[in-house]
Amino acid sequence: MGSLDIAANMPIIWRHSVDEERYEKARVGRVFNRRRPKRYPVAVVEAESEEHIVQAVKLAIGQQLRISVRSGGHSWAAWSVRDNAVLLDLGKWEHISLDKDAGTVTVSPSTTGHVLNNYLGQHGFLFPGGHCPDVGLGGFLLQGGMGWNCKNWGWACENIVALDVVTADGELVRVDEEQNSDLFFAARGAGPGFPAIVTKFHLKVRKSYTSMLASTFVYPISKYSEVLDWVVKISPGFDDAVEIVACANTPAEVGEICITAHFVTFKNTREEAVKSLELANTTRPEGFLVEIVNEPTSLAEEYKAQALANPTGHRYCAENGYIKNDSNVAAVLEPSFTTLPHPKAFAIWFAMNPCSRRELPDMALSMQSDHYFAVYTVWEDENDDERCQKWTRGVMKDLAPHCEGAYLGDSDFQIRQTKFWTDDKANRLMEIRRRRDPTSRICGYLIPGDASGAEGLENIDKLHLD
Ligand SMILES: Cc1cc2nc3c(=O)[nH]c(=O)nc-3n(C[C@H](O)[C@H](O)[C@H](O)COP(=O)(O)OP(=O)(O)OC[C@H]3O[C@@H](n4cnc5c(N)ncnc54)[C@H](O)[C@@H]3O)c2cc1C
Repeated sequence: MGSLDIAANMPIIWRHSVDEERYEKARVGRVFNRRRPKRYPVAVVEAESEEHIVQAVKLAIGQQLRISVRSGGHSWAAWSVRDNAVLLDLGKWEHISLDKDAGTVTVSPSTTGHVLNNYLGQHGFLFPGGHCPDVGLGGFLLQGGMGWNCKNWGWACENIVALDVVTADGELVRVDEEQNSDLFFAARGAGPGFPAIVTKFHLKVRKSYTSMLASTFVYPISKYSEVLDWVVKISPGFDDAVEIVACANTPAEVGEICITAHFVTFKNTREEAVKSLELANTTRPEGFLVEIVNEPTSLAEEYKAQALANPTGHRYCAENGYIKNDSNVAAVLEPSFTTLPHPKAFAIWFAMNPCSRRELPDMALSMQSDHYFAVYTVWEDENDDERCQKWTRGVMKDLAPHCEGAYLGDSDFQIRQTKFWTDDKANRLMEIRRRRDPTSRICGYLIPGDASGAEGLENIDKLHLD
């Protein structure tokens, strides 16, 4: 069958043959960031099955086109939208099935953390997907996945048992420790440079928790140093149920920048949960504006709070880094935490120790430190684009020398490259890329001019936009 005959059997929208509105909806309708890219695919395949994914790759091969993939559409830089490529949108390919005895779930990549946990919750299980409800498992897991209680439960990708993927030459294959093990290494940390297309993830699940509690302390930003020093210092003293984040934001009720410390514990009895938050509750500094101690919560409640902080229909840019362990964290983060450029912007310090101190499995993901920093600059008005992005770049320029490297998930390589892996893992990953997809059929890392190709991403500091 010729490649255009293949296209006749697929849900495909060609740019040249539909009206602009339909094309635009297919191009960016499922992209979370309202700051739309000026990149234009030749066609969009709205796959509904694994067979459509295989056919889309064959079509791209036949037409000598590149192919890009979209699962949940949450990459900040809209990596799925590429010039002159076939965009394979997996939003309509839906699959979830649980094997209770094995403790595994099989999901299609566009499944979101929220959808998966709604389903698993009914069966007494949980998966540590992204903190925001609508992040797709596809992009999230390929990057490593900083999911719920990552500091203790580890990277979400460590729960991948196997994957089904379509290779760059259009073959549907199983990937695990034994079969296609090079792709198994790559799938856990390659991010948007994975040289194949995932059709299904097979994941280990955890038993869900029946008593989640949260303690939250909000302070005026004048208490910034004292509060951040305190959170950083006490974090290693908690048990393995507690997720910890410090956040600078502008709560509407206060109307000015505040610093908040938020502790969530995942336990099975209230007594255990109260005990695990005791360290925070008994040592928190005086001078808070709001103190909420041992408040019952749930994943559903935490998702609601995340969705409020990351509203849809807004313009975003994100930056991040792993702050070196020997840094004075509060001093290094002060400019970003105290000068946010918009009332909707926020910055976080996310505790990663003890995960950061463990030896990781043999996988591409390899960059981490005790201190994860990210800034999410959120705004609504296009006129604020330049100001908000400039502020983000400026803050990160000063901070970068204090970082070991960065996380793919909150990065934009068109602006800045850095170390995303240790050098040995980066070299191995790029070798796998070159071998598995020598013509760069599958769009990889998006650098300026979309020029990275089969070579992949250099694991070095490079500033593309000052
Ligand atoms: C509001 C918000 C909250 C977030 N919270 C978190 C968080 O808590 N933890 C965290 O770790 N990250 C978080 N992120 C970052 C997020 O994980 C990444 O942006 C991730 O890429 C999103 O995955 P996606 O499938 O939704 O994105 P997409 O834009 O659909 O995919 C991103 C890229 O991944 C690759 N890809 C996706 N699916 C496939 C596939 N099936 N086969 C091959 N390649 C594929 C492609 O290169 C694609 O362009 C958040 C992002 C947002 C916008």
